[in-house]
Amino acid sequence: VRSFIRKNPHAYTAVIGCYSQMGHQTLSEIEGVDLIVGNQEKLNVLDYVAAGKNEHALVVRDRIERDDFTIDTVGDGPLTRRANLKVQDGCNFMCSFCIIPFARGRARSRELDNLVVEAQQLVSRGAKEVILTGVNVGTYQYEGRTLVDVVQRLNAVDGLERIRISSIEPTTIAEELFEFMNDPGHALVPYLHIPLQSGSNRVLQLMKRKYSREEFIAFIEQAHAIVDDLCIGTDVLVGSPGETDADFDDTLDLLANSPLCYAHVFKYSERKGTPASRYEGKVDPATASLRSAKARRVSAQKRRAFHQARLGRVMEVLFESEEDGCWSGYTGNYIRVAVRSSSRLENEVRAVKLERICGDFVFGSLVDESESAVAQGISCEER
Ligand code: SF4
Repeated sequence: VRSFIRKNPHAYTAVIGCYSQMGHQTLSEIEGVDLIVGNQEKLNVLDYVAAGKNEHALVVRDRIERDDFTIDTVGDGPLTRRANLKVQDGCNFMCSFCIIPFARGRARSRELDNLVVEAQQLVSRGAKEVILTGVNVGTYQYEGRTLVDVVQRLNAVDGLERIRISSIEPTTIAEELFEFMNDPGHALVPYLHIPLQSGSNRVLQLMKRKYSREEFIAFIEQAHAIVDDLCIGTDVLVGSPGETDADFDDTLDLLANSPLCYAHVFKYSERKGTPASRYEGKVDPATASLRSAKARRVSAQKRRAFHQARLGRVMEVLFESEEDGCWSGYTGNYIRVAVRSSSRLENEVRAVKLERICGDFVFGSLVDESESAVAQGISCEER
């Protein structure tokens, strides 16, 4: 914030969201901040913007309500990429390392009709895929309706080709979702991002997570066995207080020897006021960095193996962007695919033959355009 104000001294500066909710005192001491808006009022931010700069920051940090909510849709321009659709906010789980329940409040859900209206609007603006977002989406609960009902209602939205669930807590995933993913006529894609955080039961208990290592493994093995071509990703938190080398080895082992396809690896960072910030056994930064590097290496190997197993297949790709003549996009199961084509592919779903791995990408060729990536001589360096 300070750096932004230094570079843009005449700009009207509004700071919005979680840090405004939790760190408003620090922010209001920064000269040049005009407006600080916490999470309750962030969608109404324009109501608070003054014509000119304020002498002192205006702080809008109301208590976060517990009621279910609606969101007025904004924007009417064309959409050419996947669109986020917020279905839920807040969390009641209280993991010991996490500040989110304090910053975002208790779990609450968006009224079902209201989110369906936004989905229809997103589709009418061009979106082909929506990503269901929220702090703890699996706990969606509105007038007895669950996330399964949300997915079913969205599946009936004309023109919506893909529904993707962003990240979902392990203990909140209904098995009906597996059936939808397996149904070729259903828009729910075969993709789950399920945060593991640690593969050690001791650390999971310290974190106050709601499952054991064995339960997590059993669940993802079941999902993997039921859903064709499922991609399961995860989040891993390394270097949390009390994590020993043996605990971390448990995490690496789970990552390496389970159907997980990749992991987003985070190093523990202390959040003031959380139970974990008072724990003994802090892990030194060098050890945490080493663990992070090891976990990322295993993740890269797993992703590569997932991609390797699909080379030669033809898969549908929703293209998003172009760089230097290469178009890239994602399969339903989240393989990032690039092709070289002179056609405009933005926001098109096209069949692609997967041919070659290059880092996190798979290169391929459009099945309705003759030359393969190999024949075109596309190299990694061209990306
Ligand atoms: S880590 Fe996720 S589930 Fe746990 S408290 Fe934070 S938001 Fe909730």
